[in-house]
Amino acid sequence: MTAEPIRRVAVISLHTSPLLQPGSGDSGGMNVYVRELMSSLSQTGVECVTFTRADREDLPAEVFVEPNHRVVHIEAGPHHLPKEALPEISDQFCHGVMEWFRANGAPDVIHGNYWLSGVVGHHLKHELGVPFVSTFHTLARVKAEGGDPEPVWRDRAEAEIIKCSDAICVSCVEEEEQFRRLYGDPNGHIEIIAPGVEQALFAPGAQAGARHALGEDPDVPVLLFVGRIQPLKGPDVAIRALWRLHQAGRSTARLLIVGGASGHEGDLETERAHSLVDELGLHEHVEFISPQPHHILSTYYRAADVVIVPSRSESFGLVALEAMACGIPVVASAVGGLQSLVDDGVTGRLIDGRNPLDFAAAIGEILNDDEVRISMGKAAVEKASTYTWAAAAARLAALYDDIASRPMVQCR
Ligand code: UDP
Repeated sequence: MTAEPIRRVAVISLHTSPLLQPGSGDSGGMNVYVRELMSSLSQTGVECVTFTRADREDLPAEVFVEPNHRVVHIEAGPHHLPKEALPEISDQFCHGVMEWFRANGAPDVIHGNYWLSGVVGHHLKHELGVPFVSTFHTLARVKAEGGDPEPVWRDRAEAEIIKCSDAICVSCVEEEEQFRRLYGDPNGHIEIIAPGVEQALFAPGAQAGARHALGEDPDVPVLLFVGRIQPLKGPDVAIRALWRLHQAGRSTARLLIVGGASGHEGDLETERAHSLVDELGLHEHVEFISPQPHHILSTYYRAADVVIVPSRSESFGLVALEAMACGIPVVASAVGGLQSLVDDGVTGRLIDGRNPLDFAAAIGEILNDDEVRISMGKAAVEKASTYTWAAAAARLAALYDDIASRPMVQCR
């Protein structure tokens, strides 16, 4: 069976828009992934249409991110809805997307991001009879393993989506292994589409200039944590590691925490992080900074000596990749995709478990040895240079063409 190459892709991103500023709420790596991957794909001539829910009254119906990649806002339910209420409006959302297809033509493939979009994508697959690709970003069983259990109905919904996906995209070998261990072999392919990094923005630059721009003392080492504040990301580990370094008299470093709270748990975690800083007497050494756009975030990376990523689980870890692209060593937990990204002892350090003492020891070794820090930074840039959105898009295009040439996976 041969098929025409894929010309039009419908991307579903129900719960969060690729147009949002990442780094707080539900906006993070997935938003960057959808925006950058689909924009790169669109530059190859594939028309990409990303559907997201209108969560404000003043949004235009469509926004062009690139000439060939637009974001369509679908009205479904009241604008302000908590994430937990979104399953209730998924039929309405689906209906809105179908209406758009009726008016503008149907896609050749549907690509769902996150399980809520997977539910919609699965339904659209059967309505339209076109192949369906899933990227989960996180899965209930993975979260449960990391100590964050999800409701059983989410797990059931994910199992349904997995059964009927023509392909499932993961970001790295660790994610594929984890998927097969927790869910077995799916009916469709599993394809590794490693994300990229915006190389033109995230590139090495002068540390002194970056510190000056941020008002940081040029002689005081800077540790950096970037990401949504929630227990999963471990900001407390970064704070305690800083405390350990100060306690041991090994450094006078400052810690910059860039990002905002994510969800109710995130609000509590933010409160806990502030209390911890007070309790440990670190308020002069820790600064909380609101989420920053990528072109400014690159200055934060360049100002840093070490970027800390102490996550409990991480399907990939864009922050680690961005830091590496800027030539900054990364000290990360040895979990998920961080294990693919960080070469222990070469581009940074991988830490088993989340003991702040272990993080502090690894950070201290890098801070106190310029030769190590500089050589890790160089190796990090080299490694990061292999991750481009163009390569990810080429791989995705090949996957779409491949599944279009095969009989569709059927769940019923
Ligand atoms: N991010 C950002 N501004 C911030 C904090 C984070 O743009 O202030 C971006 C960050 O650059 C990265 C993404 O949010 O591209 C986070 O992705 P990651 O894979 O590290 O974590 P996730 O959010 O997917 O859990």
